[in-house]
Amino acid sequence: MNRLLELIYFCKAIINFTFLNPRFPNSFRELIQCQNKKTMFLKKGRKIFSIFYFKCPKCHEGAFFIYKKSLHPLKVTKIHENCPACNLKYMLEPSFYFGAMYVAYGLSVALAIAVFLISNQLLGIDLLYTFASITLVLILATPLNLKLARLIWINLFVSYDPGALSKQKSTR
Ligand SMILES: [Zn+2]
Repeated sequence: MNRLLELIYFCKAIINFTFLNPRFPNSFRELIQCQNKKTMFLKKGRKIFSIFYFKCPKCHEGAFFIYKKSLHPLKVTKIHENCPACNLKYMLEPSFYFGAMYVAYGLSVALAIAVFLISNQLLGIDLLYTFASITLVLILATPLNLKLARLIWINLFVSYDPGALSKQKSTR
């Protein structure tokens, strides 16, 4: 169990280290410390926080999705028009989230490879059942995949702004 947790934190660290955070030395230090301090990863102000907690990419306070826990296919990707906390317009431009499709595709491929490696290479399950399990996992992961893809996509364009909330309050 402990090894599994270590592995999960390590994978998160790699993701963070490679493409979510350009500050190399900081990320590297945290990569080493991550096993004991999981809170360092998911602290407010980092893109990974917004992605994993489904929060607004600018203020990290307001909710991103209207139906946070729903699995209904029509509701799962419904997002607020503006951030409830800082009023950031989530639809940066018309059909902004078409681009999230590429992210979703990347996530599915990564997941498929992970399932393949675990079931075929690690557990020795034969190819037919491996592909059946890949299909099943991909279907089950679709709602989460779509949500994460949208958040990753908007996080590529919008950065955390610590003053976003106070600015919003002063303009009201
Ligand atoms: Zn916000």
